[in-house]
Amino acid sequence: MKFSDRLGKLSPYPFVEISRIIAEKRAAGVDVVTFGIGDPDIPTPQPIIDRLLKASQDPPNHRYPETDGLPELRRAIAYWYDQRFGVKLDPDKEVLPLIGAKEGIGHAAFCFLDPGDVALVPDPAYPVYNVGTMFAGAESHVMPLYERNGWLPELDAIPADVAKAAKLMWLNYPNNPTSAVATEEDFVSAISYCRDNDIALLHDAAYSEVGYDGYKASSFMQVDGSAEVGMEFHSLSKTYNMTGWRIGMAVGNADMIKALFQIKANLDSGVPQAVQEMAIEALTSSQDCVDENVAIYQRRRDRVLKALGKLGLRTPVPRASLYIWAAIPEGFTSAEFAARLLDETDIVVTPGSSYGKFGEGYIRLSLTTPDDRVEEGCRRLENWTMPQLSA
Ligand SMILES: *Cc1c(COP(=O)(O)O)cnc(C)c1O
Repeated sequence: MKFSDRLGKLSPYPFVEISRIIAEKRAAGVDVVTFGIGDPDIPTPQPIIDRLLKASQDPPNHRYPETDGLPELRRAIAYWYDQRFGVKLDPDKEVLPLIGAKEGIGHAAFCFLDPGDVALVPDPAYPVYNVGTMFAGAESHVMPLYERNGWLPELDAIPADVAKAAKLMWLNYPNNPTSAVATEEDFVSAISYCRDNDIALLHDAAYSEVGYDGYKASSFMQVDGSAEVGMEFHSLSKTYNMTGWRIGMAVGNADMIKALFQIKANLDSGVPQAVQEMAIEALTSSQDCVDENVAIYQRRRDRVLKALGKLGLRTPVPRASLYIWAAIPEGFTSAEFAARLLDETDIVVTPGSSYGKFGEGYIRLSLTTPDDRVEEGCRRLENWTMPQLSA
């Protein structure tokens, strides 16, 4: 039997490997504290669960859903965009439910890319932009993100021939893994760049609702011209602690939404309807649960920043996202540093290099760990003697 070349090009999905190490350690009786994967530990709010229980009793929900979802869900998504961002969307043309943002991001590549085409992909970044590009047979042109630029791509640094060849650009703010945020001007420049070069601009807004100290991210769709060049991907996962239920959405340019619908209609059969009802509940009810979650993450953020400070790691204060992105001392790769930390303190963090080579020199700590475990992890960090370069 011979598997495809594309399978051979895949490195192990970072969190599959981390989950395996954690499981091994735990099986050996080790008390592991994980700041690894970004997967909210707090349960889905009860009213959303109650809606699922009710919806599960309704026989029409036992059957295949439509790929484009319940009209009521598309309207709920449009309602939420209007309430939250003041953005008006046509629920029938500019909204598409997804089986999680990850699914839509992966499939979006097939809408724009043919073999040999080029996509502009940030680095460090959520791995799916690059992998989706590769699955479509296309090439990623890396847009390096640097701390000195606030982790925003340098559009002027993209060679003119690459700009001409590129079909697609990915952006993600608030950013995973760097926790950087983008301003409206940043979106304006990206939109004008993509319009000038006839590039589809796809923005991943999975963390728009997790902002600290009163910070509220804006939507790419609020910016003039966004609907001409692009789509925005969103997820209920991080906002409502719903990673396990698998639901998100794409919104924006009607032709692009239709293209994504066509790809999906041939590959999946949409989101289970009972889960769609959960999303309707989440998007149209009180949003107090979101503020409550953010307050919890903010306390954890401050606790972890204090521990990292004591340890001597230089760490900017994140304004958004579920992550702390910390520079590590020189002389270690991020993988070596994470391995030492795991070895010596039984703490799991993600090496920056898991998000691409420009993530080297950093580690990512996720705040999706229960308070008492955060406290335990912070105590261990504070008592750890960070490895020094041997002279
Ligand atoms: C978590 C995450 C997603 C995936 O969201 P799902 O809706 O759970 O698939 C997408 N993009 C980024 C940057 C993420 O961190």
